[in-house]
Amino acid sequence: MIPFLDLKAQYASIKPELDAAVLGVLASTQYVLGDEVAAFEREFAAYCGVKHAIAVNTGTSALHLSLLAADVGPGDEVITVPFTFVATVSAICYAGARPVFVDIDPVTFTMDPAKLAAAITPRTKAIIPVHLYGQMADMKPIMEVADRHGIPVIEDACQAHGAEYVGRRAGSIGVSGCFSFYPGKNLGACGEGGIVVTNNDQHFKAIRMLRDWGQEQRYHHVLKGYNYRMDGIQGAVLRVKLRHLDDWTEARRARGHQYSSLLADAKNVRAPVEADWRRHVYHVYAVRTHDREALQRTLSAEGIQTGLHYPIPVHLQPAHRDLGYSVGDFPESEAAAREVLSLPIYPEMTARQVEQVAAAVRQEAYVG
Ligand SMILES: *Cc1c(COP(=O)(O)O)cnc(C)c1O
Repeated sequence: MIPFLDLKAQYASIKPELDAAVLGVLASTQYVLGDEVAAFEREFAAYCGVKHAIAVNTGTSALHLSLLAADVGPGDEVITVPFTFVATVSAICYAGARPVFVDIDPVTFTMDPAKLAAAITPRTKAIIPVHLYGQMADMKPIMEVADRHGIPVIEDACQAHGAEYVGRRAGSIGVSGCFSFYPGKNLGACGEGGIVVTNNDQHFKAIRMLRDWGQEQRYHHVLKGYNYRMDGIQGAVLRVKLRHLDDWTEARRARGHQYSSLLADAKNVRAPVEADWRRHVYHVYAVRTHDREALQRTLSAEGIQTGLHYPIPVHLQPAHRDLGYSVGDFPESEAAAREVLSLPIYPEMTARQVEQVAAAVRQEAYVG
């Protein structure tokens, strides 16, 4: 059996450190925010190459507060892509704004910068490119269009811890960057977690207040805030795991590159492309194939688990029908949603397991 993800293997590899970190928080009784969270904020900001970080309870909250700090509210429009996890779009709705979609580039699965300008209106208040699967969106042309119109860019880096674009880390290019520490993400908490990183002092101050009831000092509520604070235990866990993240990322990249060379001439699948000047961190390794259900069945029969990220683009989700989009509006997103299949990838996966999965994929071309 080859699982899609193996969190038990990760825990086994760092058990003494992680157990000590959790017990330390239990003894300190700093269960919400506290010293461990503050230290993690400093360390994660440094990791991203930015001035500030504000730890929150989920990646979704990080997006929500980044939008509020950019003064997004009812009547505003926020541009993003329909080929993403639904949370990107939900956060826009939480802020009371209207999500406006731009299709993806079919090679990188990220926002097509050539389609961005046409989606901008006088109501556009923010743009959220999504660094899907661990590869950053094409930020240079996106920033050029955004800067020309004076519109802030918020990076959805929830899948892209440590990814780079021309040497700059995910989260450090836009006005802010949002990360998730959901357990299955490249850097995962033992529960929920998220963070906003930013170089902007005003956004930093606003988001820090908003996550904690809008308080400037205790019981002095300057803003209408939220309870979006990070737990002390998650801060301590994330500090331990951050020290391993570069090794884990290198392992993911090695597995990704191994898959891509083994699948380079496969007839039934197209391997993902690592664009020039981008450091892909392989949160997801998604191949494209014309008969996904058949490939998934073949792999499942061999004991290989796969995933679908994502089978329905957000503009076609029943929950977002009110936006008025229909089939055919974003053909690249719709084609990707039909054709992508995510293969197992995680740092503890062995080279032998990658060979097994790749062999099973290639064999399907003949038996499928
Ligand atoms: C995981 C994820 C989110 C949401 O993060 P949570 O921590 O689960 O709230 C948002 N956007 C993308 C692209 C994600 O993958």
